[in-house]
Amino acid sequence: MTDLADSPAVRRLADWDHGRLEGLADEYDTPLYVMDLDRVKENYTRFAAAFPDAEVMYAAKAHTGKAVLEAVLEAGADIECAAWGELQRSIDAGADPNTLQYTAVNPPDHDLDYAADLAEEAPGLTITIGATDTLDRLAERGYDGRIAIRINPGIGTGHHEKVATGADAKFGIPYERVPEVADRVREEFELVGLHAHAGSGVLTEGLEEHCRAIERVGEMARRVGDDELEFVDVGGGYGVPYREDEEPLDLERTAEMVREAAGELEATLKLEPGRYVVADAGLILSEVNTIKEAPDATVVGVDASLATLIRPAMFGSYHPMLNVSAPDRDSHPVTVGGPVCTSADVFAHDRPVARPERGDILAIGNAGSYGYELASQFHSQPRPAEVALENGQSRVVRRRESLEDVTRVEQ
Ligand SMILES: *Cc1c(COP(=O)(O)O)cnc(C)c1O
Repeated sequence: MTDLADSPAVRRLADWDHGRLEGLADEYDTPLYVMDLDRVKENYTRFAAAFPDAEVMYAAKAHTGKAVLEAVLEAGADIECAAWGELQRSIDAGADPNTLQYTAVNPPDHDLDYAADLAEEAPGLTITIGATDTLDRLAERGYDGRIAIRINPGIGTGHHEKVATGADAKFGIPYERVPEVADRVREEFELVGLHAHAGSGVLTEGLEEHCRAIERVGEMARRVGDDELEFVDVGGGYGVPYREDEEPLDLERTAEMVREAAGELEATLKLEPGRYVVADAGLILSEVNTIKEAPDATVVGVDASLATLIRPAMFGSYHPMLNVSAPDRDSHPVTVGGPVCTSADVFAHDRPVARPERGDILAIGNAGSYGYELASQFHSQPRPAEVALENGQSRVVRRRESLEDVTRVEQ
C-alpha cells in the first residue's frame, strides 16, 4: 500500500483514466457523478498529516453522501455538521454521536430539538453557537452540555463574497462581546471551545488574510483562558486549484502559517476542511448532444446543466473540462451549455476543448464539493446517479432519480 500522506497535492482531469471514465458513462449513463473514495481518503490523510498535533474534522456539507461519510470516517475523521440532517446522516454512516460537532447558524426549532435530544444519549456532542438566542433556546430545551462559541473575527476570506463568512454579521458573536458570552456559557453550560470559519476556497494568495482571522481567534482564546478550553477551531476554507494553471496549496507552509497565527495555545487546534477533502475526488460525466456553429461561438450542448452543478451559475466558478472520448483531438474554443432555458446555464465560454463531436463524453472536473449537494430538480430533471470508485471497483451509491422521485411529494 502506498503512503497516503505522499499522494499528489492535486488531481487534475488529465490525471484520470480517460478510458475508464468513458466506460463508466457507457455503463451508468449520463449525466453521472463519479466520486473516487480512495482519493477522498488520501486527501483527508494528507491534510491531517500536515497538522500532526491538531484535530482535523470533515465538514459534511461539502458532500454528505453516505459513501463519502463512510470513507472519511474510515480515514479517521470526526465530522462537523451544520444542520440536523447532516448529524443524522453522519450517525447513519457510522459516526459516534459523541464525536459530532454541530455548528448552529440561525438554527430552526427542529434542529435544536434534534440536537438537544441527541445530547441526552450522547453527551459528547458539541454545539457551536453564533448568537446568544441559541443559548436561550438550548436552555429552554434543558440543554446544559458542551458549547463552543463561534467568533466573528471581523475578517472574511475566500473565492467569492458569497462564501466570505468571517466579517459577515450573520456568522458568529461580535468579537468584543465574546468574553461576556464566554462567562455566561461557563455559568450555564460547559464551555469547551472557540470557533471561527472565515471563508472558503482560500489558496496561497488568500492565506495571509485567512491567517489574520485565525490570529484574532487565538488572541481571543488566550483572553478567555485557553488553558480552560479543550479546543480552538479555526474552521475550514482551504481551497483547491480549479484552473489548470493554479498551484495547489502548499500544505506544509499552510500548516506553519496557521500554527503561527493561532499562537501559543494550551487547547488543541482543530480544523474542519470540507472542499479540500472531496473537490478533486469528484467529477461529472456529460454527453454532447448538440454542436452549433454560431457567428460568434461554437456552442456545445451537453446533458448536464445548472441543475446538475450550480457553481458556475451561482458563483461564476471555473470548472475544468476535458473531452475524455478524444483528449488528443485539436482543441478549439467552445461554449458549453446545458438544456436549461436560461443564459446562466453555461459551464464555459470560449474554452479550448479537444474538438467535441456529438456523442462524446465531456468530464467536468472538481465537482466533488458543493456539487451533488447543490443539485436540484429544476426543469423537472431527475437528479443524476452517483458512482463511487474504490479499490479498483465501481458501484452506484446514489441511483439515478426517476420522474416519480421528482413528483413523489405532490398531493
Ligand atoms: C462550510 C463550512 C466548512 C467547510 O468549508 P470548506 O470551504 O468546504 O472547507 C467548515 N466549517 C463550517 C462551520 C462551515 O460552515
